[in-house]
Amino acid sequence: MKRRDFLKQTALGAAAVGAAAGCSGPGGGPDGKASGGPKAGGRRVIWRLASSFPRGLDTIYGGAEVLAKEVEAMSGGRFKIRPYPAGEIVPGLQVLDAVQQGTVQVGHTASYYYTGKNPALAFDTSLPFGLSARQQVAWMEQGGGAELLDPIFADFGIKRFLAGGTGAQMGGWFNREITSPEDLQGLKMRIPGLGGDVMSRLGATVQVLAGGDIYPALERGAIDATEWIGPYDDEKLGFHKIAKYYYYPGWWEPGPTLSFYVGRKQWETLSPEFQAIFSAATAVATRFMQSRYDALNPAALVRLKQGKTELRAFPDSVMAAAREKAEALFEEQAAKDAAYRKILEPWKKFREESFGWFATAEKAYAAFAFR
Ligand code: CA
Repeated sequence: MKRRDFLKQTALGAAAVGAAAGCSGPGGGPDGKASGGPKAGGRRVIWRLASSFPRGLDTIYGGAEVLAKEVEAMSGGRFKIRPYPAGEIVPGLQVLDAVQQGTVQVGHTASYYYTGKNPALAFDTSLPFGLSARQQVAWMEQGGGAELLDPIFADFGIKRFLAGGTGAQMGGWFNREITSPEDLQGLKMRIPGLGGDVMSRLGATVQVLAGGDIYPALERGAIDATEWIGPYDDEKLGFHKIAKYYYYPGWWEPGPTLSFYVGRKQWETLSPEFQAIFSAATAVATRFMQSRYDALNPAALVRLKQGKTELRAFPDSVMAAAREKAEALFEEQAAKDAAYRKILEPWKKFREESFGWFATAEKAYAAFAFR
């Protein structure tokens, strides 16, 4: 989709939603009451979902659409979720607040957007020089991560579910070459989360912008560089038209995962059947997102390389300087926040062991076969 069409569609969508929201109110229930209600199993439930992502991204935003479709199918149409892209109900970076305040029942977002509220939220998404996609899911689902993070989310009145991931991300689009850590001095870059903190410590000027706001900022020179996701999504947002160098890897996001948030009070209004349906649907959405990225990124990378894009690997000097800053940042945070340390220590142990395992069969195969 052309960017102009995408913006137009978003604007039209916003107008339509404004009208609809006026009718149904924040609860969105068909009877005008807050949706769900006590013992909601026998009646219809209609929930609203606010996503942090633009509708045009069929990969990442598509995960929310899959959730909605699955919930509706599995419940025989008795439980519906209406997804809204970033900016239609709330701005992309205010999804956590919207769920916390009950403006929407479901959020679809990346927890590291909210590290300003609690730095430990980064563990739910990705940390610089942290876990790969499979390692992150293993830690969260089977390695104790979810249990460690649940109390953090409970503080916000939120229950979180895995919502898929992107795989290792690209380092992003730069309008000048980065040959040493010194080249990051004064660089104005859009990069959220801890990656942004590390870049800042390396001398860059960091901004956090939601997906739809990046292109105009890069185009008018308000930023010199931006990271986003990977070839397929980045191509859709058009960054290759306005920046020449495409760097890799995104060492700040080696395997980020997205999350669905549900307000805990809202969750308790669901029948056990609808709770089970929602949980199962998040698993379908999770599988959809990662597989779609892995299927679509290869061809997008070929297209970008055939165009004007120049692919560059971050030099080891930049990677090493960034890793040093990242590890120092983790320790500083842990020193002033016992709750953070309680997550960091087992996470580091998991990382060490997992790196040891993946450095064996996975790495040997990749090193030989992928080159
Ligand atoms: Ca990214």
